[in-house]
Amino acid sequence: MFSSSANLQSIVSNFSLDHMMRYSLFVPRLYNLCRSLGFEAGNIMPSRAFCSDENQGFPIILITKHFGAFPFNHGRVGGIVATGRHGPHADHGKDMVIIQASHVGYDPETKAFGSYCRLQTSDNKSTSTCGKIDIVIQWYQDEYRFAQSNIYLGREGDLRTITIDNQLLDKRRTQGLFLNLDQMVLMEDGNLKLHRTLSTSRVYIASDELCRMLPDELWLVGERVAIGSHLMPEMFSYRRQVSADIEGQNHLENNFINPMPWIVTSPAPLLVAAQVNTQSEFDRVFRTIVKSPEYQDKKLLFISCLNIDISPQEGQVFPLTKCVPWAAYIQSGEGSSRTLEQPEIVKQLMQQSTENPDQIDLEAAIQQMIGAREVRIET
Ligand SMILES: [Zn+2]
Repeated sequence: MFSSSANLQSIVSNFSLDHMMRYSLFVPRLYNLCRSLGFEAGNIMPSRAFCSDENQGFPIILITKHFGAFPFNHGRVGGIVATGRHGPHADHGKDMVIIQASHVGYDPETKAFGSYCRLQTSDNKSTSTCGKIDIVIQWYQDEYRFAQSNIYLGREGDLRTITIDNQLLDKRRTQGLFLNLDQMVLMEDGNLKLHRTLSTSRVYIASDELCRMLPDELWLVGERVAIGSHLMPEMFSYRRQVSADIEGQNHLENNFINPMPWIVTSPAPLLVAAQVNTQSEFDRVFRTIVKSPEYQDKKLLFISCLNIDISPQEGQVFPLTKCVPWAAYIQSGEGSSRTLEQPEIVKQLMQQSTENPDQIDLEAAIQQMIGAREVRIET
């Protein structure tokens, strides 16, 4: 593998999907974990930072049921946390819980990640989910497709060549897909070893490393073979001019731009993108919590997860959402705090009971309000 890419690959591959749990089991476990940490029943203010997609409603209903309070809204589209809302959240309760999650659809029929069946459409159509993430990554996918079909491998006698379209070689571009040329092409005196110049492309001698990475049968004498799916994430990066505003319009895109080669080359791009966003938001947001004066002396649990929305079947009202915990930050309110990596938070949750004696009966609570004596608003 090319040397510069090991860290990024590690970020993507270290997220394990092995410990997913149904939301109906995750929420009582989380509640009981909070109670075991000394959080006070009836005085916990939950908060969620979920995408605006209506399929995130079922998890919100379960949080309401088990925590006995409708969760504060900390979320922006795509699962970005609005950290400017820490203050009001802290003001609304004694003990604090924040649940952040990016999400991805799952179709049990096709067993594919990234789509979700919308029962409220007239033809029950499936749409990309998370749709916001899908829109953000499309430009990068288009760039990748262009590169896949405009880089060719060839062989002239013993020489292995790589032919690259001039657009991909243009260093003056301010945005686009940029190849790791100094690792893909043989270098001579610090320059790329040019073999021949064609009308719209250049033919280079392939580096030994590239020859080792790609299968022998791709290098055919007298033929040009498009690199296609063999254009691996280690071989390129992206540049794009997007505003770097934290929590601004391009925040989601900025979370993706470095690991994007792993996202576009994955068989499930929307799954990998959602994982990356969850990881990125946890790392960013826990630092804002630590610095937030409003949270300083409070018991607090912050957890980041991936929500997998399993499309509902005909007759089901809600998705069968599963939760994959990624990491958690816990502070005691008395000065101590700790961060729990994925295996630790999963272990802590799995040790908890799924029984929650404090859960509320939502139907009864609604009936109670319907039957309550009317309060006249005086103007
Ligand atoms: Zn979404």
